[in-house]
Amino acid sequence: MSNSPVIVALDYATAESALDMAAQLTPSQCRLKVGKELFTRAGPGLIEALTKREFEVFLDLKFHDIPNTVARACAAAADMGVWMVNVHASTGRRAMEQAANTLAQFSNAPLLTAVTVLTSFSQSELQEIHPGEQLEQRVSRLASLAQDCGLDGVVCSAHEASTLRAERGPSFALVTPGVRPLGSDAGDQTRIMTPSDAMQAGSSHLVIGRPITQALDPVAALQQINQTLGVD
Ligand code: C5P
Repeated sequence: MSNSPVIVALDYATAESALDMAAQLTPSQCRLKVGKELFTRAGPGLIEALTKREFEVFLDLKFHDIPNTVARACAAAADMGVWMVNVHASTGRRAMEQAANTLAQFSNAPLLTAVTVLTSFSQSELQEIHPGEQLEQRVSRLASLAQDCGLDGVVCSAHEASTLRAERGPSFALVTPGVRPLGSDAGDQTRIMTPSDAMQAGSSHLVIGRPITQALDPVAALQQINQTLGVD
């Protein structure tokens, strides 16, 4: 069980590299995120290996499909013992409700979160697929829908966190990527925020990849971030 809001993104192409990084980290100091590339290559065996080492795992597969398929995929994630799993909010009310109801039957159900609008989207890209809607409006509307369907939170940009915290209340999880400690490389992230600013804005969890995984000393990088957040 981690005391830290940090979720380290294991963006690797092989189970071996992911396990090498995990071997340097401690489950009380961070959680781990496994996304589409790594899961497609390494599969449930990797999740099992990480949970065996007592890491809480966020399986970031962003399910988006018909209700039955989304719910059954979430159940499969729960069977693997993950700590958090997610869907796209645009998969719709029935799929989100069915997924939440299915997970409620598990004694150690993972948290269920939703992606509202991918943070890579610009307003003009959004216009192409959803003409007439402002990005911020869509984020707020889909977060409201996710909460109404019984989900535990959303994945959002730190720049959306203060609005969503105010709108969705204190216990809704706001899981935030695009976080960069002072002095670290932004890489391809554009709208970045420091860990403490993101927490102050209302985020409950911070997804941080390269500033930790590509650091010369990943353990020191994580410890430094935790220190700035007042976590032991
Ligand atoms: O290395 P970095 O800290 O940029 O990694 C961020 C992680 O969060 C990556 O796994 C990326 O895919 C993920 N992510 C993101 N923006 C989103 C959703 C997920 O950066 N909107």
